[in-house]
Amino acid sequence: MTLDIADLAQLDRAHIIHPYLPGSATERVVMISGSGCRLTDSQGRGYLDATGGLWLAQVGHGRTELADVAHAQMAKLEYFTSFWEFSNERAIELATRLASLAPAPLSHVYFTSGGSEGNEAAIKMARYYHHRRGESSRTWILARSKAYHGIGYGGGSATGFPLYHEGFAPMMPHVSHLTPPWPYRTELYGDQPLSPEQVTDFLIRELEERIAEIGPGNIAAMIGEPIMGVGGMLVPPADYWPRVREVLDRHGILLIFDEVVTAYGRVGEWFAAQYFGVTPDIIVTAKGITSGYVPLGALLVGDHVAEVLLRDHGFPMGYTYNGHPVATAVATANLDLIEREGLLARATGLGAFLHAELEAQLGELPVVGEIRSVGMMLAVELVRDRATRAPLPLHPERMPHDVIRRETGVIVRDSAHSLVLSPPLIMTEAEAREVASALRGVLERTEPTGEIRAA
Ligand code: PLP
Repeated sequence: MTLDIADLAQLDRAHIIHPYLPGSATERVVMISGSGCRLTDSQGRGYLDATGGLWLAQVGHGRTELADVAHAQMAKLEYFTSFWEFSNERAIELATRLASLAPAPLSHVYFTSGGSEGNEAAIKMARYYHHRRGESSRTWILARSKAYHGIGYGGGSATGFPLYHEGFAPMMPHVSHLTPPWPYRTELYGDQPLSPEQVTDFLIRELEERIAEIGPGNIAAMIGEPIMGVGGMLVPPADYWPRVREVLDRHGILLIFDEVVTAYGRVGEWFAAQYFGVTPDIIVTAKGITSGYVPLGALLVGDHVAEVLLRDHGFPMGYTYNGHPVATAVATANLDLIEREGLLARATGLGAFLHAELEAQLGELPVVGEIRSVGMMLAVELVRDRATRAPLPLHPERMPHDVIRRETGVIVRDSAHSLVLSPPLIMTEAEAREVASALRGVLERTEPTGEIRAA
């Protein structure tokens, strides 16, 4: 069946359920092709991708090297299971590579097909680890409000937004949410403005109190994104993770880093764990591991955890596509590209450039409260009043990111009251400037009421 390009939007409306899109919405943007940071839709309109798809297109679109690798591997061995004693050379090659990149002692790898599956596996691993060690009472998972850990019932329960729970209850029991680290919003911590170190003091006190309430012997793990992505690129104070790690260690609680967004160069290191100088027990990754060319996730598991999971009959859960030969082949080729093109250093350098450009073009606008970034994760916080930091009122039918895309073709996303950016790491400086100008063009017409004046 060949579809007429003119009918695509109508057929989409008739047949596809899109996440987070109301049935009443008529607009569709049907992407046809991509190259570098540029995309073209079915109407021939061009776009500049400042979100990296969904925060993952590290090496950019249209890399035919990766298509060639997938083709060659499909022709050789498209799939065989990785359950039991079976394996394949591509999964082994990638696991060996990941073990060499990860902080010691995380030298074991468990494959999934994405981030949500990864967090399900991590939460189950944490509980199972304690169970096998004779501490079956350790079932609780500590998480944070504003966290996003995917849409499974485990990770989804750890996710800290009511929107993701409403109508899906009952969620998984034994999950407790802590306050997120967000130094800009010190009202989360009381009436007085606090320094970043005082924010950490507050959060560590809360953590200790929560552990005491639940009982340390009942807690399996704490899960957290090193930098909260969906929550709005929330960067914690530098001492937050080291101090959290110290508290958890004292109580025998595992630390799971959800690095589905932050790994593979996004923050200028292979893993944000290295950026913060903290070694978790499990790191969950996905997205950038293949730059999105094929679905894949990988958990990096500490040797001390793996040793327990692998006792007796081994770890009793596996996804059909665990260690998929095509996905792992593409991942290795993608990591080769990241390495060969120096994209870790580029994320740091270009991230600083884009941040400075945003600061120069938007820094003085009355609706811009803060610009924050680490590497190529950036956010522009929108406010009604810079002095009080009151959030900008939002109008769902005319959101700034939608207006920016419709008027300029630059694709950014919203996260509550911020605009978030995570462009491909290969973006040029000229493109970064174009992104900043597109934001300025709309935000300078944005009133404190949230209304956007016509151009
Ligand atoms: N964890 C984090 C931090 C994420 O940002 C996401 C997706 O955006 C997920 C987990 C879920 O990953 P997936 O959509 O691949 O299931």
